[in-house]
Amino acid sequence: MGLMAKIMGKPMLDVKEINVRYGPIQALKSVSISVKESEIVTVVGANGAGKSSLLRAIAGTVKESKGSINFEGKNVNNLSAAARVKSGLTLVPEGRQIFVSMTVEENLLIGAYSQTGTQVKSSVESIFDRFKNLANRRHQLASVLSGGEQQMLAIGRAMVAKPKLMMLDEPSLGLSPILVKQLFDLIKELNSQGISILIVEQNTKLALKAAKRGYVLELGTVRQQGSATELSKDKDLAKAYLGETA
Ligand code: ATP
Repeated sequence: MGLMAKIMGKPMLDVKEINVRYGPIQALKSVSISVKESEIVTVVGANGAGKSSLLRAIAGTVKESKGSINFEGKNVNNLSAAARVKSGLTLVPEGRQIFVSMTVEENLLIGAYSQTGTQVKSSVESIFDRFKNLANRRHQLASVLSGGEQQMLAIGRAMVAKPKLMMLDEPSLGLSPILVKQLFDLIKELNSQGISILIVEQNTKLALKAAKRGYVLELGTVRQQGSATELSKDKDLAKAYLGETA
């Protein structure tokens, strides 16, 4: 982001009043959210609240029917998903969506498809340097990885694309408490290296602990928003969403 934008405090990602529908189902109704540079922002809410639809619309894998999505001051509504990745916007999708019939290395290479030869090699090697478990299995099929390793591979694939903003959809799903802790440590580390983070979680408590600000989605609309500290103290919210994880 340019210096002026920084000084003006303009958001890096600015989503304004978007609607998303799947046939008769309206998944998002006039949803607005923003992420500033270097922020960790979380979107929480119950099953079916529209969290995944919001990330998919930002990533460009579903089309909004109304509203605008601006990234670094540019409107991206009409950019393809691939072009959005190239501009620095990447999604680690729910359920990881790695290619189990391809090797670990091939999965990482997919994340680097918009780069040229030598860049690709160094991007992939930097992931192997960081994740030794993945390096040891680089030529094995991704299907042999544990759930936690598959999540690291999905994040590694997103990192290879050199994101400015990384979106993560329910990354803690199915991971043991130890792996969840490692995952959130990794997210904070990526953030400290300058990557902005937008994270969707059902594990509200954890997400609010890591984030600076949060939004609560309910039935496709933003019901509440505020600083993560404020939201985590909110009694109604605790009752509605912090139940099992509180
Ligand atoms: P979850 O945590 O269960 O994924 P979510 O908050 O991410 O929930 P979405 O997946 O965005 O919510 O779903 C919002 C609404 O849109 C739900 O009513 C869901 O059934 C519907 N929906 C999501 N994807 C599709 C689709 N591909 N086709 C039809 N309806 C869909």
